[in-house]
Amino acid sequence: MNIFQLASSLHYLVEGFSPAAIALNSTAESFSTIYGTLKTISETDPTSAASALSLVERAWAAWYIWMNNDVLATGLLFFLTHELMYFGRCLPWYIIDHIPYFRKWKIQPNKIPLDKEQWECFKAVIKSHLLVEALPIWLFHPLCATLGISIDVPFPALKVMAAQIALFFVLEDNWHYWAHRLFHYGPFYKHIHKQHHKYAAPFGLAAEYAHPIEVMSLGFGTVGFPIIYAYCTKQYPQLNLPVLHLFTLTVWIVLRLFQAVDSHSGYEFPWSLHHFFPLWAGAEHHDDHHHFFIGNYASSFRYLDYLLGTESGIPANIVRERKMRQKAEAK
Ligand SMILES: [Zn+2]
Ligand SMILES: [Zn+2]
Repeated sequence: MNIFQLASSLHYLVEGFSPAAIALNSTAESFSTIYGTLKTISETDPTSAASALSLVERAWAAWYIWMNNDVLATGLLFFLTHELMYFGRCLPWYIIDHIPYFRKWKIQPNKIPLDKEQWECFKAVIKSHLLVEALPIWLFHPLCATLGISIDVPFPALKVMAAQIALFFVLEDNWHYWAHRLFHYGPFYKHIHKQHHKYAAPFGLAAEYAHPIEVMSLGFGTVGFPIIYAYCTKQYPQLNLPVLHLFTLTVWIVLRLFQAVDSHSGYEFPWSLHHFFPLWAGAEHHDDHHHFFIGNYASSFRYLDYLLGTESGIPANIVRERKMRQKAEAK
């Protein structure tokens, strides 16, 4: 069921509603607040399709119906999700930095970021978000409409969403590896990537502290592949690719944000994900990149740096030198 159908199923609740537009009568009391809209959807006729929606699906539909403007709804959704999730995820790391108990898990324990440093970084990241990312966010809905990225309810099956997100993780990691490696090449490093390496001992907020060119080119790995995927679903129907939903894309971006913030956190816990899932990069992997300025170019996984011999840190260097020596002796 799409938003139109949902709105139609709610038709009896609102006088003067035209199914020709998502716009419902915004003066109707039940749709004047987002909570009222959600309540109205939840209290809809139990025999209608709308009653089978989950709470998240109802909230999603309520957002679009209440906003009454899809471009604004998608734009604001992306902007608010980015800001809330990024800074919301940074906050626990900021608090942990102020609690000495956690020092035993700090990867570089003598380098606790100063409040002044974090404040400067915070201001720069906010500025970058507004300047670099605001416009693409506002143009995103027309692009979604062109590519057939769905905003309908119900959402796709969980396994479809999980498979698409897993694919985006792998593609982004590959893009990130090569683009990041290129950014460590002479002039690119000097004029672009050096800004991100200001902090040799990173902290959560530093994840998106970067030159605008870097934000855009590495950001392609996060947003560009879903766009290409959606293009393929529309252009090549014979591939039978499941349609991409905007909710899936939102979940993917949130997970990628969490990955980026956590990898800059500077903390390695016994319960960190890579202890259970060894392919996962985690904070230690990226902390070493900031510490040694070289190697560990991938974002989410460890396998590319391992396979391509670019692991950073002293132990990896010893192994690399030993292999080179063995190779030379074998000749
Ligand atoms: Zn780097
Ligand atoms: Zn970094």
